[in-house]
Amino acid sequence: MSSNFFIQKAKEIQIVIDANAPEIEKLDQEIGDGDHIFNVQRGIKLVIELESTIKDLTASKALSQIAMKVLSGIGGSSGALFGTLFMTMAKGNGIDEGIDYKKAIEIFAQGVEAVKQRGKADVGEKTMMDVLIPVSNCLKKGVEENKNKNEILSEAIDIAEKGMLSTKDLLATKGRASFLGERAKGHIDPGARSSQLMIKTVCESVLNS
Ligand code: ADP
Ligand code: MG
Repeated sequence: MSSNFFIQKAKEIQIVIDANAPEIEKLDQEIGDGDHIFNVQRGIKLVIELESTIKDLTASKALSQIAMKVLSGIGGSSGALFGTLFMTMAKGNGIDEGIDYKKAIEIFAQGVEAVKQRGKADVGEKTMMDVLIPVSNCLKKGVEENKNKNEILSEAIDIAEKGMLSTKDLLATKGRASFLGERAKGHIDPGARSSQLMIKTVCESVLNS
């Protein structure tokens, strides 16, 4: 996995997020402050702009540059949370000695665990964690059970969608939506939707490669 992999995935994610931007914007207008789509689009753009800076860097250095860009360049909860994800992945053991899908899953799971600690949100609180935690668990379980790569990725795509949809009927107990109480019910969490789309894009892309 080279730094080129990260840029390619960011470009693929950009297309999907842009195509779904009106929906994500509406979701954050309903239960947040409306800026989530702006934060996500800005983050993706900043990462893509790093292409020439990181092209010859090791995976760990490339990921830490990406993390710092995201942390410093995006506002809102998502900047800090995605920054934490990438920074933790950058520190993954043996990341510069070659990354196969098992290693990628291990590192991603460590990143998700760090985001969970940072945001202090677990499954069931109507946030992006309702997507990230089940996906991380599903990926790890797939490796433990020696499933093949494509099977694991297909399951992760389904789990991400289920997690995203599950946020609709939840009460929010973390983030801005928590101020709304019962009024947040009936709306999908914007961070869950954007995370689900990103996971789907990356998994489908790797599946088809
Ligand atoms: P802000 O809420 O600061 O305006 P964004 O609009 O960019 O930031 O992101 C909102 C999303 O962040 C929410 O939809 C939710 O998924 C996620 N989020 C908010 N707080 C947390 C938290 N403590 N842990 C995990 N995710 C969170
Ligand atoms: Mg917001």
